[in-house]
Amino acid sequence: MCGIVGYVGARDSSPILLDGLRRLEYRGYDSAGIAICAPDGTIQIRKSEGKLAKLVESLNGGAPRGTLGIGHTRWATHGAPNDTNAHPHGDCTGRLAVVHNGIVENYDELRSELRAQGHKFVSETDTEVLAHLIEDAAKRVHSTDKPRLAAAVADALRRVRGTFAIGVISLDDPG
Ligand code: GLU
Repeated sequence: MCGIVGYVGARDSSPILLDGLRRLEYRGYDSAGIAICAPDGTIQIRKSEGKLAKLVESLNGGAPRGTLGIGHTRWATHGAPNDTNAHPHGDCTGRLAVVHNGIVENYDELRSELRAQGHKFVSETDTEVLAHLIEDAAKRVHSTDKPRLAAAVADALRRVRGTFAIGVISLDDPG
């Protein structure tokens, strides 16, 4: 079973996320990753197939800094356990990132629809459709709707069948 951890606050998030993922290791997983809203206005994603120790080693002491982030340990259901399919997953703009526990049952149909609209997919996962659906929904949500990200996520999830828990961060709604 996968694990999800998130942090928003005043502290640097990566040590908190990595510690949270360490505590979830007992659940079993095949890959791990983190996404952080960095001070330079980008979302920095680091992920790796294999154990959390491998991800930490690949960071080489240089984890992205930032006070908002999400982390994930994956148990693959759709797509091989590899670096590309590991979570978090981004949208086309790189302005949001998603982690997901569970299965999007209608991902195939949603992916075809989103591809036809011009969305580019990089992984084999069912999860990636969530990032692109939220990207689309965010365009429809009014800027006066607060919190805007929550409204976009709720709108996107109306299209989704399955059982899931998700974590989402967005540069456009960093709270
Ligand atoms: N279905 C998703 C995937 O294969 C999430 C699996 C999980 O719950 O870790 O990436």
